[in-house]
Parts: sequence; structure tokens; C-alpha cells
Amino acid sequence: MQDEFQAMDWDKQGGLLPVIVQDVATLRVLMLGYMNRDALQATLASRRVTFFSRSRQRLWMKGEQSGHVLDLVSLEADCDSDTLLAMVRPQGPTCHRGTASCFPAAPSDFLAELDALVDTRRQERPEDSYTTRLFDAGTRAIAQKVGEEGVETALAAVVQSDSALCNESADLLYHLLVLLRSRERSIADVLDVLKQRHRLS
Ligand code: AMP
Ligand code: ZN
Ligand code: ZN
Ligand code: ZN
Repeated sequence: MQDEFQAMDWDKQGGLLPVIVQDVATLRVLMLGYMNRDALQATLASRRVTFFSRSRQRLWMKGEQSGHVLDLVSLEADCDSDTLLAMVRPQGPTCHRGTASCFPAAPSDFLAELDALVDTRRQERPEDSYTTRLFDAGTRAIAQKVGEEGVETALAAVVQSDSALCNESADLLYHLLVLLRSRERSIADVLDVLKQRHRLS
């Protein structure tokens, strides 16, 4: 096992560590599981999250039956080394009920969720979807919509109500998400630029 995990507090809960699993793209907490030393080793070796199932008393690679595996991005200990945080890219829904997370949706990063939905529309192009129509119309047409919504937002800020301003801003943000995805970029790339500027200032 890697040295950094030798020093984990394995004795606190009978050789098991709780593992918080978080989606690296949406930052949603997906589930909580437990690892013993073998599960941790299997996880690091395969880069797929593997727990120790307390009910079945054996190693359990999440997704071993469903195929909904959790690809490991990083694994880190908390401050006092009694809990692990696994950042993952989930392949499919994490909960066996078919939902992305075992926990109710947290409203904290809705923009990231909406962006993920927009990208799903781009890939799957379901009929009767306005987002599909935008992607089919192409980058120029989407760019024109962003321009219009930008002007509408600016006008609303000067001569319209608060609710009109919020509505036009929502239109603008949504169309911007679509525009970025149509150029194979995403809001995450934009946030990276902002973070970079923040560090420079
Ligand atoms: P899977 O690991 O996805 O192949 O699922 C195998 C079995 O593990 C399922 O039939 C459930 O009983 C259980 N299971 C799967 N996902 C979860 C989860 N997120 N939380 C708790 N139990 C789960
Ligand atoms: Zn702790
Ligand atoms: Zn669940
Ligand atoms: Zn508008």
C-alpha cells in the first residue's frame, strides 16, 4: 500500500475507513462506503472504487454487476486520517435506484448539473428538445442567440423590472452553456480562466 495510507487510523472502526465519494465534475456527493486495507489496495491498483461490503463481508467493486463503476481521479485522507475522500468520474448512476447520487440533490452547484444535462443533449440529440434544435442549428446560430440575450439582459438592467433582469440573465447563461458546448468547451474552462486571473491579482 502507498505510504500515505499506512498511517490511516485503521483501528478506529475495526479495520474499516468510511469513504466519501464525490463526482469530480459536478462536485455532488454520490455515496458513502467503507474500505478495509484490501479494498484500498484494489482501488489504487485498478483505479476503480472498491469497497468492503459490510453486509456481504467481501470486497465489492462498485458497479461489478451494474457496470456503473466509479473511475478514481484522486483519493485523499482527512485531517486526522480516519476518513477518505474519493473524487471520481461515475460511469452511469451511482445509486442502485438509478439516481446519480444516493443523497437528495443538493442545490449548490446547479449550473454544473445544467451544463452536464446540456452536454448529454449534445451527445444524444433527443427529439422535442429545444437544446437539440440549438445544437442542430450550429455554433453561428447559437452565437447569435447569445448576442440577442446579452442585449436583452443589458436592456432589462436599465429599463425593466428585477424579475425581467433575472429572466434575461437566465436565458443568457443557458445559451452561453450551449454555445460553449457547441465549441467543445464548457463553463469549467471559463471558471478556470477566472480562477487563474484571481491568482494573478
Ligand atoms: P453494483 O455494485 O452497482 O453492481 O451493484 C451491486 C449491488 O450493490 C446492488 O444490487 C445493490 O444491492 C448494491 N448497491 C449498488 N450501488 C449501491 C449504492 N450506491 N449504495 C448501496 N448499495 C448499492
Ligand atoms: Zn476525521
Ligand atoms: Zn443509493
Ligand atoms: Zn431573453
